[in-house]
Amino acid sequence: MTVLVDLRFRDRLKKYGSAESDACFNCGNCTAVCPLSEGDDGFPRKMIRYGQLGDRDRLLSFKELWLCYYCGECSDTCPREAGPGEFMASARRYVIASADPFGIAGLLYRSPLFTIVFLIGKSGNKPVKLRIGKNLL
Ligand code: SF4
Ligand code: SF4
Repeated sequence: MTVLVDLRFRDRLKKYGSAESDACFNCGNCTAVCPLSEGDDGFPRKMIRYGQLGDRDRLLSFKELWLCYYCGECSDTCPREAGPGEFMASARRYVIASADPFGIAGLLYRSPLFTIVFLIGKSGNKPVKLRIGKNLL
């Protein structure tokens, strides 16, 4: 089997919020606590591993990517503070941004300044409430 790796994929994901995933040392704590993990499927540990290796196609092929509801239990128990929950969210943002032919989704995810300007423009005179992840700042 031939596996094509994208050596820049890991850096691309970081732009979508996954700043700490390099710290993962594959211990499996996140798999032990994740409500979606079954048997020996290794979720979400193996997803992070694929991201580290640049195996983009395999990572993005898992339906679990979209089942994860970002409860944060994996991140809370990670001994390396690698942010597995944030990693999953980043991968979803990457897919959504990649599917946007106008590039607006990518800008909204990657640029807090663009997001602020965009929302102010959309809101007219109404107040805007923002929640921006610490990894995006
Ligand atoms: S993300 Fe954290 S808990 Fe999960 S395998 Fe990596 S180091 Fe372990
Ligand atoms: S954030 Fe996602 S991957 Fe992490 S424990 Fe919750 S459902 Fe599982």
